Amino acid sequence: MRVPVVELVGQPGETRELTRAVPPDAFGEDPWGPTITAVHGRVELALHLDSVVEGILVRGTIGYEIELACARCLTAKHEHVQCQVAELFVDPLKREEGEEDDPGYELLDDNTAIDLSTLARDSLLIDLPVRVLCSEDCLGLCERCGADRNVADCGHRPGQEPDPRWAKLTELDLPIE
Ligand SMILES: [Zn+2]
Ligand SMILES: [Zn+2]
Repeated sequence: MRVPVVELVGQPGETRELTRAVPPDAFGEDPWGPTITAVHGRVELALHLDSVVEGILVRGTIGYEIELACARCLTAKHEHVQCQVAELFVDPLKREEGEEDDPGYELLDDNTAIDLSTLARDSLLIDLPVRVLCSEDCLGLCERCGADRNVADCGHRPGQEPDPRWAKLTELDLPIE
């Protein structure tokens, strides 16, 4: 999502508010990584764009309605996430030697625009837990029959011997799809 900043660049002290609700695809095609099943509704930006000597400082919050899958039972879980952001977008030509190159945080088009896509994606992923559970005591899916053990007790217990009727199957060398 590109934002023009032509009136801010080179004017340290100038500031502009960016308050907007935008559809998730404004940040590119599927930019949310494997943890997130979907981003619903609108992404809410409440940002300040401050002109500083080095470039444009973007601060504020970004709010998301996200859908995640439980790591154990795969049930969809909806969450509202509010992320704090503070990132400096710099002139790529003024970058000091040895500084880490991150094209996601550079001024674009002759220093007239910034792109918030990397910021939106990174701020969300940094705040996410590595493993999401629908509840702390989620029982997960049965390893043998796939039943959701939160919903019904299929009678299988972890660690049991596999059903002898299926034992032959494990010897087959099936192609992995
Ligand atoms: Zn679960
Ligand atoms: Zn089972």
